[in-house]
Amino acid sequence: MLCFLPKKIEMRFDYSSEILEKIGIPERAFDLKRNQYSSTQILRNILEFTPENALKIIGLISVDLYIPVLTFVFGQAQLNGKAAVVSIHRLRQEYYGLPPNNRILLKRLGKEVIHELGHTFGMVHCWDTRCVMHFSNSIREIDVKEDKFCESCSKILLSKL
Ligand SMILES: [Zn+2]
Ligand SMILES: [Zn+2]
Repeated sequence: MLCFLPKKIEMRFDYSSEILEKIGIPERAFDLKRNQYSSTQILRNILEFTPENALKIIGLISVDLYIPVLTFVFGQAQLNGKAAVVSIHRLRQEYYGLPPNNRILLKRLGKEVIHELGHTFGMVHCWDTRCVMHFSNSIREIDVKEDKFCESCSKILLSKL
């Protein structure tokens, strides 16, 4: 199901990528009061499992993520850092009371993966609602954007790769 991702990543960043073995979610990442998982803790955990030769790493997870100042996040990344994470929790149609749709889910996932990896390469948010670096606060915003960088972001990215 996820095998399209390495190709997509290679297309956008010109680095090859591979899918690694699953790792667990640390218990300390769970916040009982919020019934959500701290994406910062999860990033820390991902870093512990990062192979030495990896330039970047992105974790995919199915639980709901948060950072303290926001009610939820679709994902998080270390700006200019190594690690990122994306959750499919709120990318699923079921979350919005709709019938499951894998095609839509994977499309959204692709965009969020490129977005978060973009941050690890130092890319910041873009005002262009169709650019992959546009900040998405809702599923609608994810659906509006594309899985690629706008012209100006593409130029900036090239200088960072
Ligand atoms: Zn972002
Ligand atoms: Zn842009």
